[in-house]
Amino acid sequence: MKSKIQNKFKTLFGEGGNLFASAGRINLIGEHTDYNGGYVFPGAIDKGIMAQIKLNGLNKVRAFSLDYNEMVEFGLNEEDKPKQQWACYIFGVCRETIKRGGKVAGFDTVFAGDVPLGAGLSSSAALESCFAFAINELNGNNIDKFELAKIGQSTEHNYCGVMCGIMDQFASCFGKQGCLIRLNCKTLEYKYFPFDPEAAGYKLVLIDSCVKHELASSAYNKRRASCENAAAAIRKYHPEVEFLSDAKRVWLEEVRAEIPEEDFLRAEYVIGEVQRVLDVCDALERGDYETAGEMMYQTHFGMSRLYEVSCEELDFLNKLARKMDVTGSRVMGGGFGGCTINLVKKELYEPFIATAVEKFGEKFGHKPKVIDVVISDGARKVE
Ligand code: ADP
Ligand code: MG
Repeated sequence: MKSKIQNKFKTLFGEGGNLFASAGRINLIGEHTDYNGGYVFPGAIDKGIMAQIKLNGLNKVRAFSLDYNEMVEFGLNEEDKPKQQWACYIFGVCRETIKRGGKVAGFDTVFAGDVPLGAGLSSSAALESCFAFAINELNGNNIDKFELAKIGQSTEHNYCGVMCGIMDQFASCFGKQGCLIRLNCKTLEYKYFPFDPEAAGYKLVLIDSCVKHELASSAYNKRRASCENAAAAIRKYHPEVEFLSDAKRVWLEEVRAEIPEEDFLRAEYVIGEVQRVLDVCDALERGDYETAGEMMYQTHFGMSRLYEVSCEELDFLNKLARKMDVTGSRVMGGGFGGCTINLVKKELYEPFIATAVEKFGEKFGHKPKVIDVVISDGARKVE
């Protein structure tokens, strides 16, 4: 990827420029906790975006996407928004930097990526973080990393129509090799925990079901409403409960008769999930991957039976993993399709993957995609 980018850059724009890179992300555990003020536990991966960038002394950006084989040119004012979706991410990052008082001099760039699009690994956050980081460096803006993540998030909100949380951009900006980062979505405090499965004899692998069920967005809104309803009921007795994640399990029990059973089950999942993130962090500090894996199965159970955001394909993959003694497995992301994330002992990897691909293909008529991931550095300058 690197030499392809550099060659194309030379052809289009000549000598010079610097290389920057950023990463997609996984989330080991902590799902549907973000909007409940709870924890998430993401890490950057060895798949991302790489860009060669050089200031061009003009008041515009000339960007070439190798993957779309397309050149787009745009100015830096609000009315200059390009038509191409991929270019809107870069334009948005420029605009959001300017809005924060940063300088954005015109630049030329050639970039490419290897995060599978729309698989739940946040290729868009990788793209935003790469340019947010590079623009900050090249213009000497000294914007801190958290604000760079927010530049990416605001880009999604204001220029791409995606009302996402902060996790993806946070992970992409703060990611560190061999570490996952526990982020408190209410206070935005974060802490690194060691996570190096390879060194401990495991592999981390995603199995992409390649399905996306249409329910996703309406169901998402319903889940949020259930959580808010449960939190409001608990708040009557415990005013300190701002978000559902502030509630103790017994407090939920107290209001069980006052809320619909469905809301109770949703809340039960969320409160359990917040605790599971803490338990996994404790386990990893001891190097205990088996306990971390067990928690992943519990999360899957909760997402499938209590929160009800799984689907037949994902339950199938999860059940197969359990049957084959895979250490941990769960649906990753919002649900209703996408990937399972699996923590697998090295010696089990080959048979598990072969069986999963074959059996899934037999049952659902298409093969799932296998994506190996290694926890790696986030946004950075490439030497
Ligand atoms: P994801 O879940 O992977 O973030 P999104 O739909 O949010 O999926 O973002 C995918 C979009 O990000 C693509 O449609 C494209 O506009 C942009 N993008 C991601 N990776 C690349 C790339 N390598 N080159 C150009 N654009 C990319
Ligand atoms: Mg995205």
